[in-house]
Amino acid sequence: MSDIIVIGGGIAGVSAAARLASFGSVTLLESETALGYHASGRSAALFEADYGLPTTVALNMASAEYHKTANGGYLSPRGLLIVARSEDKDLFEKDKTEISIDVISPSEACEIVPILDPAKVAYAGYHGAAWDLDTDRMIQDFARVVRQNGGKVLTGEHVNAISRRDGHWQVVTNKTGHRAKLLVNAAGAWADTVARLAGVDPLGIVPHRRSIARLPAPGGYDVSAWPMFFGAGETWYAKPDAGKLLVSPADEDPMQPHDAYADDMVLAEGLARYEEMVTEPVTRVETNWAGLRSFAPDRTLVLGPDPVHPDFIWCAAQGGYGFQTAPAASQLVADLVTGNTPALDAGTVAALSPGRFR
Ligand SMILES: Cc1cc2nc3c(=O)[nH]c(=O)nc-3n(C[C@H](O)[C@H](O)[C@H](O)COP(=O)(O)OP(=O)(O)OC[C@H]3O[C@@H](n4cnc5c(N)ncnc54)[C@H](O)[C@@H]3O)c2cc1C
Repeated sequence: MSDIIVIGGGIAGVSAAARLASFGSVTLLESETALGYHASGRSAALFEADYGLPTTVALNMASAEYHKTANGGYLSPRGLLIVARSEDKDLFEKDKTEISIDVISPSEACEIVPILDPAKVAYAGYHGAAWDLDTDRMIQDFARVVRQNGGKVLTGEHVNAISRRDGHWQVVTNKTGHRAKLLVNAAGAWADTVARLAGVDPLGIVPHRRSIARLPAPGGYDVSAWPMFFGAGETWYAKPDAGKLLVSPADEDPMQPHDAYADDMVLAEGLARYEEMVTEPVTRVETNWAGLRSFAPDRTLVLGPDPVHPDFIWCAAQGGYGFQTAPAASQLVADLVTGNTPALDAGTVAALSPGRFR
């Protein structure tokens, strides 16, 4: 018997479990044999505070100090560059208003990333306030906090059934049964599936596939200091990673929850969009993968108690922002569970609440 069961061992689940662990006994249940196996193990690991809708930006901003300072900090400098063809002027203008980039000349952009094709880049913008996140260490550090507070982090425990008896949740996994007063749903792509298991109305959270190809360093360049660079309108992006270059088609195809994998055609089309803007052809893809970014219908995270079943706590719909928002999102979940006043303003808290759908 625990006070709180958290379902899901991605960044959402471990961060929420860590924040709650000092308020009561916490048991985290994860289907897979390792934490972060699904979306959380497949991200591009960027922190960019302006990225997302206003509620997401509010969570990003409120998370920044944690990312910078907690446990020695999780950030290392990356920077962000947006490049556009002449026909993509409108997309570029839109990006410029959403992300506070400084407009630079195409030739400056080609100096920063020397494989960019000067004949193709018509518009460019840069800003330095974008960082790589050490996502693996974030997950492990949050899990350690759970254990240090006497909580349990159990992997290889797939939740098959959930029922409510005597004011408690009964959770049956492939291994055993668990009982708790509160249930936190941090099941990522399976958030609505878990809600249905618990007899709670789903919210219409839909997983969307996003793919990544890892290429050898193009042209043999040392890519390590290059910024993350995007096609205007997020039609593709590329990011240095351990001496290689990750390229994503920035796909967003709705899917059923599953162990996602990249579609060859989607990858090929995305690589072609990237290739159009660079001078180095793609000669080899070393590996590729895909993950599911799960969105609520309004593309805003869902954080807090279900209004009909207040002992069922949503920590879901992190979309493409699960890591950058995690410190503040998990703090908000803990504040709402424990009755503390959230640091976020009331309008943002209401906009993130599952109550907005009921
Ligand atoms: C290609 C890509 C790039 C991205 N880039 C970024 C980025 O740069 N910055 C950023 O902040 N975010 C990024 N994201 C988004 C980020 O990865 C996600 O928002 C985040 O990982 C979601 O975390 P989660 O814990 O909700 O989901 P998950 O990591 O998927 O975790 C959910 C867990 O719940 C478990 N589960 C489900 N059902 C059950 C059950 N019945 N019983 C037990 N366990 C269950 C699953 O096994 C899974 O491990 C990216 C995502 C992708 C795919």
